[in-house]
Amino acid sequence: MWESKNIETNAIHGGKQSQGEHGPLSTPIYQTSTFVFDDVQQGADRFAGEAGGHIYSRLGNPTVEELENRMAILEGTEAAAAFGSGMGAVSAAIFALLKSGDHLVTSHRLYGCTYALFNHQLPALGIEVSFVDLADPQAVREAIKPNTKVIYGETPINPCMTVMDLDALAGIARERGIVTVIDNTFMSPILQRPAEHGIDLVLHSATKYLNGHGDVVAGILCGPAELIDQIKMTTRKDMGAVMSPHDAWLVIRGLKTLHLRMQRHGENGQVVAEYLEKHPAVEKVYYPGLPDHPGYKLLGKQMSGAGGVMAFELKQGFEQAVAFINGLQMCKRAVSLGDAETLIQHPASMTHSTYEPEELAAAGISRTLIRLAVGLENAEDIVADLEQALAGIG
Ligand code: PLP
Repeated sequence: MWESKNIETNAIHGGKQSQGEHGPLSTPIYQTSTFVFDDVQQGADRFAGEAGGHIYSRLGNPTVEELENRMAILEGTEAAAAFGSGMGAVSAAIFALLKSGDHLVTSHRLYGCTYALFNHQLPALGIEVSFVDLADPQAVREAIKPNTKVIYGETPINPCMTVMDLDALAGIARERGIVTVIDNTFMSPILQRPAEHGIDLVLHSATKYLNGHGDVVAGILCGPAELIDQIKMTTRKDMGAVMSPHDAWLVIRGLKTLHLRMQRHGENGQVVAEYLEKHPAVEKVYYPGLPDHPGYKLLGKQMSGAGGVMAFELKQGFEQAVAFINGLQMCKRAVSLGDAETLIQHPASMTHSTYEPEELAAAGISRTLIRLAVGLENAEDIVADLEQALAGIG
């Protein structure tokens, strides 16, 4: 199996499996639910784990496994597991690591459905959850209890791009035998590799940058082989959020251009953030590529770029924010991010609509906050569309 010291080469060649007798350049799609055994003994041996070979696609599929191998190489972990959605990956990890009576330390600042899972489903199952500022190591230390089993965070955090120090977080958790899980969706392994900083499990909504073309819903978990195997053979197998072979193929295709796309998303992100910051109608821009953003100091330390997502607030109120979003002509009004198209959304009424008003305030999400996921268009065109929509609100 080819592996280079350069991540852009690995995104193209790393983890590629043997292509069989026909030698196709593109990975074959094993679009099959089940696999045929030569005889009963072979089937029994595979079920007993005494023989290699596939059994049934919910347990493992060669196309999906190729994506898993590629992602493990890119994130620098021993193994990876693919899922039918990012939330499938979140729940498979959480339910494999936590049982009734355990305690989870996390943040108010999370993707809305992850927050809903932690705030509603886990307490109903007897799992205790503390929401603290994970960017403050002292707050994390104080939140830890004897039954704390997992620390779960995102960095940069959706939607205000708050950045937490991964080395500090991993250090606190390691001393106490607590498993750390980091959602790396906003950065992709091109800009940030949490495992290099001691994080145990790295999670992605592969729906976003990894796939990159807005045509798949998928998730990935990367981590130590023992833990990943445990998740594959328990919560993934039994709860069933598996990735389809065709979706795995689309994500593999996306990975081949991930490096170039992240470069362009970052260049466009910087241009757009600097434009918005100077605009008289804009109150504040949240983007780690701007020197006044608290995450800026971690650029270079744990992130090699600021990516393509930012949030901003207008000086005027809610109605003007809505009129601005409705006035855009090229940028698409849609949730999600990491696609070729620039996407814009209103977190308080869309991705974070599961939050109560006080929870929105704790997460720093005002009713005028707008999230922009800058795409791959020419930056001039993105700026021109923002300009005409801002002019339209006076
Ligand atoms: N994590 C983050 C940071 C997200 O933005 C999302 C979705 O927007 C998810 C997880 C959930 O992923 P999916 O929509 O693929 O289930």
